Amino acid sequence: MTAHRPTPASCVVQLDAPSAHYEMPQACATWRRVLPVPPQGELLSAWCAAGLPPLCATRLLHVLRQGRAAVWPIELPSPQADGRLEGYLLSVSPLAGEADSPQHCSIVTLVPNHTPWPTGGQPGQPAANGLRLSLALDGELRLSLLDPQWTQLTGHATEACLGRPLTDFVHPQAQAGLTRHLGQAEQHPEVPRQRLPLLHQSGNLVWVEVDFEQQIAPTPDGRANGWWALLEDVSDNVRTWHLDQVREQALDQSNCGVVVTDATLTHQPIVYVNPRFTEITGYTLDEVRGRPCNFLQGEDRQQDSIAPLREAIQRGDRATALLRNYRKSGELFWNELHIAPIVDERSGILTHHVGIVNDVTETRHLLAQVSKQAEQLQSLHHDNPNGLIAFDEAGQVHLVNEAFVGLTGLKAQGLGRAAFWSALQAMADPGHEDLQQGLSQGQTLQWQIKRPKERVVEVRGSQLNAAGAPDLLVFRDVSAEVQLYRMQRQFLATAAHEMRAPMGSIRGFSELMLTRQFPPEVQRDLLERIHRQSGRLSDLLNDLLNLARIESQAPGSLPLEPVELQPLLHEVVRSFERPGADSRLSLSLAPAAVWVQAQRAKLEQVLVNLVSNALKYSSARGLPVHIGLQPGHDPQHWSVNISDQGVGMSAQTLERLFTKFFRVDPNGDIEGTGLGLCIAKELTERMGGSIQVSSQLGQGSVFTVNLLQTPSGTARPDTATAPAREAPCP
Ligand code: ADP
Repeated sequence: MTAHRPTPASCVVQLDAPSAHYEMPQACATWRRVLPVPPQGELLSAWCAAGLPPLCATRLLHVLRQGRAAVWPIELPSPQADGRLEGYLLSVSPLAGEADSPQHCSIVTLVPNHTPWPTGGQPGQPAANGLRLSLALDGELRLSLLDPQWTQLTGHATEACLGRPLTDFVHPQAQAGLTRHLGQAEQHPEVPRQRLPLLHQSGNLVWVEVDFEQQIAPTPDGRANGWWALLEDVSDNVRTWHLDQVREQALDQSNCGVVVTDATLTHQPIVYVNPRFTEITGYTLDEVRGRPCNFLQGEDRQQDSIAPLREAIQRGDRATALLRNYRKSGELFWNELHIAPIVDERSGILTHHVGIVNDVTETRHLLAQVSKQAEQLQSLHHDNPNGLIAFDEAGQVHLVNEAFVGLTGLKAQGLGRAAFWSALQAMADPGHEDLQQGLSQGQTLQWQIKRPKERVVEVRGSQLNAAGAPDLLVFRDVSAEVQLYRMQRQFLATAAHEMRAPMGSIRGFSELMLTRQFPPEVQRDLLERIHRQSGRLSDLLNDLLNLARIESQAPGSLPLEPVELQPLLHEVVRSFERPGADSRLSLSLAPAAVWVQAQRAKLEQVLVNLVSNALKYSSARGLPVHIGLQPGHDPQHWSVNISDQGVGMSAQTLERLFTKFFRVDPNGDIEGTGLGLCIAKELTERMGGSIQVSSQLGQGSVFTVNLLQTPSGTARPDTATAPAREAPCP
């Protein structure tokens, strides 16, 4: 800014210090238009009467008496006497060399102020735009005079600052510029207004604008011997300006596209887009300026969200819509558009719309992925046979699956950690290990619950939180495994026990024969016993192997075929024939061929076992055993009944009948392994059939094998019209 400088008015004031007398030996003509030239001694009172503020007069007197230089702004009534006040800078410059003499002269100058103070503001007082004050610098740019407002502006006491260079109070990055400017100004007295960042004592920056004026009395070499300066605190303005700059930067740096349209024109043309808009759409400001926004939709105009968006815009409301938009390359992107109306504050007229463009294509893609994963997780979680519990960050159960509810019967959803654990602990026996404690040490616990059903549950905790407590719990019902383990151990113990007896006999009798001499008939008896026991041992081993083989096969893995029962039953009966011995077996068959689903060899094994038992456990009485083929309990089944009139069994015996190694009379004369029925049952079930027993102690037993009729089998005859026929044993 170039300062406009109207003609200054000056006068010379001579002070006679001992008598405190003032004289005005010289005053220029301009001065007289501003302030009077009073008679001797009435200098200040005359000036005060002419409008010089009394405070200013006191200060002037003080400066004159000290014989020093000063400058400050004042206001005086306009020479036009129209009641206006005019701004001046009052400058006092002592004439060199006379400061210490009892009589000294100072030049007092009034410079019409080219930066007038705002009306109503007193010079040096905080004005509407901020504090204004004056200061003087000597030739070395040291502070030689300071207004008291300096303290208010910078926080530094004036006494502590006088004599120090002004640059001490200027931000380091601006010091060189200041010195350079003032250096240039010595050659060109027109010093542009400077903006300077001053350092407040607190460390804050205070922005001032400064008008520099050269001191009046130049040095003999023509250089200015100092400066006076008017400072104006413009911090608020500068901060506002900075904020505008920052806003502009923010728009440029924003991660959202910004588009502004002019709402005062009917086609609402784009007037601004930020760089991010260009990044998203591929269109630059030049390419889109003046076009309405809808070109972004390409040909894809039928979008559900467009109509509500238009309505909101017409109402002048804010609106958000998800739009299918197209980049310059033609690629589709999903635009989550937020629109806000801009209204002119004074007129209330809608002037612009600001649209915030968010490219949410990637987000939508990720969301779809996450939601699919969540669905998969949900179904995994739902179908998981293990009970699952997950705690949220607040320590509440937020995920419970059905398996957990089925296992424990506990409605755990929403329970806090403490309530959950105490409900769980209550299901175990009192005195059971503290579950929560155990799991927080990262262990997997086996836990015996009593309610709602007795079970053994394995609990595993994972995803330990900061406090070491698991956030995810898996509950596995291991009752069956535990039971199986127990049974296996028991089986091994029983099998070993069963083998020990024949082994002991074989060993004992053979030792006897080796160590002693027996007559031939005793030797034969001993050998027969050894032979019988080894046969028993062999039967036991065969049965065990059989059972192990059957149990190792997965259910359903036995290959099945249609088997015709009549020939098979004849075969079974034939296998018990002994030459020259009467058969105790009788057979009754259905008139037509009956086909069932089975494996011929296995079914024969089952039937032979049952017939053998029936013969064995009725042998003492020598009564007949009957094998009958009948329609089953439903139209899909046929039954083979094996009935004997032997020893029969009690109800308690029947309960344990199919248990491995179970024998009613293990020490009796009838030999056996106690595995036959167990094998028969396993095999029948693997062929899709079942075995039933009815028996009465001392009366006899009926074993019924139910088998599934094959589709290719013959139609079942009506039993009422075609009774089973007695067939003599072949
Ligand atoms: P074993 O080899 O001892 O016959 P099984 O498993 O075939 O073994 O039979 C188990 C037990 O069931 C037999 O020891 C016997 O006590 C009893 N049992 C089986 N069948 C009959 C039957 N028809 N009459 C009476 N008891 C039977």
